[in-house]
Amino acid sequence: MKKIAIIGAGVAGLTALQALKQQDCSVTVFDKSRGSGGRLSSKKSGASSWDMGAQFMRAHTEEFKAQLKLWETDGWIAHWDVTPWIINGTQRTASPDDIDRYVGMPRMTGLSRKLLESADDFITQTRIVESRFNSDQFNWSLVAEDGSVFGPFDELIINTPPQQVLPLLPAESSLTEQVECIHMLPCWTLLYGFEKPLTCAFDTAFVKSGPISWIARNNSKPGRDARETWVIQANHEWSERKKDAPREQVQKELEEAFAIATGCTITPTDIWLHRWLYSLPSNAPGLGALRDERHNLTLCGDWCHKPSVEGAWLSGRAAANIITGNKP
Ligand SMILES: Cc1cc2nc3c(=O)[nH]c(=O)nc-3n(C[C@H](O)[C@H](O)[C@H](O)COP(=O)(O)OP(=O)(O)OC[C@H]3O[C@@H](n4cnc5c(N)ncnc54)[C@H](O)[C@@H]3O)c2cc1C
Repeated sequence: MKKIAIIGAGVAGLTALQALKQQDCSVTVFDKSRGSGGRLSSKKSGASSWDMGAQFMRAHTEEFKAQLKLWETDGWIAHWDVTPWIINGTQRTASPDDIDRYVGMPRMTGLSRKLLESADDFITQTRIVESRFNSDQFNWSLVAEDGSVFGPFDELIINTPPQQVLPLLPAESSLTEQVECIHMLPCWTLLYGFEKPLTCAFDTAFVKSGPISWIARNNSKPGRDARETWVIQANHEWSERKKDAPREQVQKELEEAFAIATGCTITPTDIWLHRWLYSLPSNAPGLGALRDERHNLTLCGDWCHKPSVEGAWLSGRAAANIITGNKP
């Protein structure tokens, strides 16, 4: 039985896990966080909870469309029946589109929890700081921040953002250059919870001017608490410019833009501001997964393929296929 380690319990890593378990591999998953999901991330603060990272999933490929249907049948995700508005300056238009949007149940990380169930072991709150390839035995051991050593493993999959891959690559890896050239965009995200619903005509909007790119009434998604909660995401250009700005200033500017977009007076009871340093890749190469054959090492993640949950899923599947020799 092949023993495989996956660093990172994001969608890509967990998709690889599922496919590898179907081929009877033994799989251990490591993550530095308490839970799984990575950028699917859900947040709770005070009486409110939100989806803090990915807002919804959609399918561009037939394979992912079929996967979404299966997850929906199993109750891991649900269809989010929503019509986003488009706000551009003073212009506001409802934009009925025929895009099917799906969300994890009862939060985005509900999906990753389910995907994780097949892992032989999930080692949480464990940041891997060193990976050691033993070229005599052709296997890997992993060293955590607290000095614990795990292994040996026959194969290593790394599913972390590229900046966190680099320190884990062997010095002579053929993949270093490809990883180094990926650029990840930041995204400031502001979360608000309110005692009373905002009197706002829409539940979600794409905002085309000012600092914001997306706003959503989180409680309009299926399965969420009824409490009024909103997610406000800044656009990437603004987030890049304000990457190191004081948090109070960032919050103030986003709040002002949110008040203009919704036309509401903003008096939140719960507030959370998060800076995603690595939210999305700007130059994902569409390669599926990356392989260093000399070291039995495979890299996966949205940044290897396409910047979305679907991209991460396709990348995780490609990683498993490389290792098991399956045709996609
Ligand atoms: C604000 C925001 C909004 C988004 N909106 C959408 C959307 O609406 N729709 C959509 O399709 N996509 C969206 N995305 C993108 C989507 O979330 C990602 O494409 C996808 O979740 C990436 O999954 P992944 O498996 O590649 O990596 P990640 O989710 O980044 O997982 C990597 C994991 O590695 C772990 N890790 C990192 N370093 C280490 C280490 N040294 N040791 C152990 N563990 C480590 C991390 O904790 C993390 O769990 C959004 C992303 C953000 C941030």
